[in-house]
Amino acid sequence: MATYKYVTPPTRGSKIGVNADGSLNVPYDPIIPYVEGDGIGPDIWRASQRVWDAAVDKAYGGTRRFVWFKVPAGEEAKRQYDEWLPNDTIEAVKEYRVAIKGPLTTPIGGGIRSLNVTLRQVLDLYACVRPVRYFQGVPSPVKQPEKLNVIIFRENTEDVYAGIEWKARSDEANRVISFMNRELKTKIREMSGIGVKPMSAFGSKRLIKMGLKYAIAHGKSSATLVHKGNIMKFTEGAFRDWGYELVREEFQGACVTEEDVTSKHGGQAPAGKVVVKDRIADSMFQQALLRPEEYSVLCTPNLNGDFLSDACAAQVGGLGMAPGANIGDGYAMFEATHGTAPKYAGHDKVNPGSLMLSGVMMLEHMGGGEAAALVVKGIEETILEKTVTYDLARQTEGARELKCSEFAGKIIEKF
Ligand code: NAP
Repeated sequence: MATYKYVTPPTRGSKIGVNADGSLNVPYDPIIPYVEGDGIGPDIWRASQRVWDAAVDKAYGGTRRFVWFKVPAGEEAKRQYDEWLPNDTIEAVKEYRVAIKGPLTTPIGGGIRSLNVTLRQVLDLYACVRPVRYFQGVPSPVKQPEKLNVIIFRENTEDVYAGIEWKARSDEANRVISFMNRELKTKIREMSGIGVKPMSAFGSKRLIKMGLKYAIAHGKSSATLVHKGNIMKFTEGAFRDWGYELVREEFQGACVTEEDVTSKHGGQAPAGKVVVKDRIADSMFQQALLRPEEYSVLCTPNLNGDFLSDACAAQVGGLGMAPGANIGDGYAMFEATHGTAPKYAGHDKVNPGSLMLSGVMMLEHMGGGEAAALVVKGIEETILEKTVTYDLARQTEGARELKCSEFAGKIIEKF
């Protein structure tokens, strides 16, 4: 049992456990730590919590329920405890395993790291998971946005985002440059800034494994390894090679490579098998626009995945509705993908869709698919009726603008 300095866990409710095979053992009344978030966080939190609780109640006739446990982070924690991210929050996620959060301000200056990055690193949440699908009626910049329905598994701990970099002219950068030019015969220009791009078989394979397991469990037709291996052979190219190696080592029964489909199966994938293919990152951006229906699960290194997930979200109508999660082995943190939009804080105005759909991911992760489906149905029908928050209303002809809380109320009416 963890010890907490500032908060007291609920006296009701039970802990989520982990089974021998790594799957979650979810009680009927799981305790879920949550962070409302800064800025618009409390607005979208209130709206979303109502919707999730109502969906669980409706789907399971009162036999299952969330027991919420508020934990501190962000501006409120700084005000109350003079800490941006009290250890209590990390302990709570470790103890209860599944948590959800609204957006957090990134403190500027003073050497404070992004709270989101800290949470990911401390809990080793190595996969950033972003499903991207279209909701009928959402304004989109493309003709057939409904053709894109992908889930992106982005590696979250390595690559140029590992934070290993040195400023141009710094002693560290100068030492690295002189070492490399002298010992490895490179020709790095003097006074360059230096960043390092580490990518390992361990980091790549565990990420790709999560993507493949998802594809198999959800009956998806394909999983695509997205990389820039034609240029960066020993990092991005290795990511692709390690992916195929993993298929050979562990997924022969459930997966087939695209190459084998052509060479051994006459171009027809064997029924029920996930086709594993790879695409060069720049081509993948084109494919997402031109042939979106050919893609399903996408596994990417860190940097490519960052770009690709926002580009795909824009294609189906923007980030306002895009959910996300950071997932590791046995731990998961679900989160809205947008920021704190401080100018709208407390106005009960913004779209709670991103957080609400992150809750849908959380429900699915915990085996609550029926409740998740209700929330999705509620959102779909409410948007189709053109009763939406300002962001969608301003782009939709004939729409009626609702407050954040009213939007939640409408969704619940559809259950
Ligand atoms: P932002 O908070 O995402 O807001 C930018 C704009 O996006 C808003 O002004 C608004 O557009 C629109 N928007 C965002 N959320 C919306 C919602 N729920 N419904 C409707 N529209 C929404 O980005 P930012 O202003 O760059 O960042 C503000 C703070 O958030 C920073 O401290 C940043 O570090 C932090 N941040 C946190 C996270 C996170 O916690 N995961 C992620 C990103 C940023 P209009 O003005 O056009 O209406």
